Amino acid sequence: VFPVAQLPAEKAKQLRGLVMDLDDTVLDHGRLLPNALSAMYDAKQAGLSLLVATGRAAGWGEVLIRLLPLDGMITENGSVAFTCDSGGVHRHERVNSEQRRQRRIRLASLVSDLQATFPEARLADDVDLRYSDIAFDVGEHQRVPKEIVQQMRAFAEERGARTTVSSVHFHCSFEWDDKASGTLFFLSKQRQVDPSYALTRYAFVGDSSNDAAGFAAFRTSFAVANVRPYLSGLSIPPTYIATQERAAGFHEIIQELIEKRR
Ligand SMILES: [Mg+2]
Repeated sequence: VFPVAQLPAEKAKQLRGLVMDLDDTVLDHGRLLPNALSAMYDAKQAGLSLLVATGRAAGWGEVLIRLLPLDGMITENGSVAFTCDSGGVHRHERVNSEQRRQRRIRLASLVSDLQATFPEARLADDVDLRYSDIAFDVGEHQRVPKEIVQQMRAFAEERGARTTVSSVHFHCSFEWDDKASGTLFFLSKQRQVDPSYALTRYAFVGDSSNDAAGFAAFRTSFAVANVRPYLSGLSIPPTYIATQERAAGFHEIIQELIEKRR
């Protein structure tokens, strides 16, 4: 792991795009602050294509793709993506409505099993906006101890679910994609960007364990300083780390990228 100041200029110049996590990377305790928003416009101005890869609900994607300077929004940890053009907002999914319905039924029964076993299993406040997964609040409006989150994960995985944990949520799904595969699938299908090209020419920026796939897959990855407690749990750490946390760290990374691209 290197300080972001050590990013080589030639690497910065080669980049075509940036894939960003939202919570605790771009967002500061859930808020979009002026420095993070202006960093996005600066990055765009510097010729970078911007994508979001978040664990947040599809409903968030449908709204944010209209508001932010993004070329794509990948939500629910890789399973549901959005684009926006003059024809409006478009949703992109790999499963059809019948498969989706079956998975919702399996998820609902997993939720009742989890809630019958763990009193801490409280649904996140965005579950009604979700299409493909279920999220429990573990750090947003309540703090669930790490050991309990681990027990809930094991419980869900025994029942065939895939699980991910971010700084705010514990997710269960019956989907296959993660942030990296969902982003590469989106880029190849919707933007005609070859996956191996994307892995070297797009960089990933994140902050926690649900960004593990992004840190592992993309040749260049960045993290904001609040990644530190998660570093030991990541099989592949981010390449570069900012000195500052959250929005300030995101702003720092973008400024470094822009300066080195000049
Ligand atoms: Mg995050």
